[in-house]
Amino acid sequence: MFTIFWKGLLDLVFPPRPECPLCGSPGSGSQICGSCRSIISGYRREPYCGRCGRLPGKGAVIPADGPHLCLECRRHGWPFILARAPGAYEGHLKEAVHRFKYGGSRWLAGPLASLMLEVLLPEILSAGIELVVPVPLSRDKLRQRGFNQAALLAKEIGSALKIPVNARTLVKVLDTPAQTGLPKAARELNLRTAFKVMNKEHFQNKNILIVDDVFTTGCTMSAVAEALKRSGAGQLFGITVANGRYF
Ligand SMILES: [Zn+2]
Ligand SMILES: [Zn+2]
Repeated sequence: MFTIFWKGLLDLVFPPRPECPLCGSPGSGSQICGSCRSIISGYRREPYCGRCGRLPGKGAVIPADGPHLCLECRRHGWPFILARAPGAYEGHLKEAVHRFKYGGSRWLAGPLASLMLEVLLPEILSAGIELVVPVPLSRDKLRQRGFNQAALLAKEIGSALKIPVNARTLVKVLDTPAQTGLPKAARELNLRTAFKVMNKEHFQNKNILIVDDVFTTGCTMSAVAEALKRSGAGQLFGITVANGRYF
């Protein structure tokens, strides 16, 4: 009853628009339209890295068949078992993330989370996820934007899977504004100290699904996973709305 009331209230505050959540074209109710659907299913037919889930870019060397790892995943390990996303960070998917994050279209959390749920492979679900944790924003960023997009997605995913969400114990203590353009090593160093766990007991021995909007270099997901690992977390998995391509 309370959930229905809450949902009703949310619909009042952030009314769902009768448009495709991805391309914004009218006429599809609030469902993903046919043409966006076919783009999404196109991504599913592409080969992807078995570890980080990224799709190959132009010129990437991929084996003719079977699962494979991208060059980066072959070179070094990640503190998470695997990460997945429903498609590449480009075109309508990228625009949708932008409207969600910067355009104030909070209602997109529902449709985007549904797409993420479609790729929560048996590999992730069978691991016995006990907790969903969104990548936190710094206090300044949160004040600026008014909401944490990853937390909205995590809430949708947690309630669909009936798994608790913890959006409070992991905090971002340092802002890392000018990450783009920095060499990877510098970004990693900045991010290493950016996340802090307020109470380790909340994560101890728990298998956790980390939720974020985009996975590009994997630095953020990695830094969060490392912070959780240091707190004694069990197996870690990542899910995002979109991911970058590898070359
Ligand atoms: Zn569309
Ligand atoms: Zn990879």
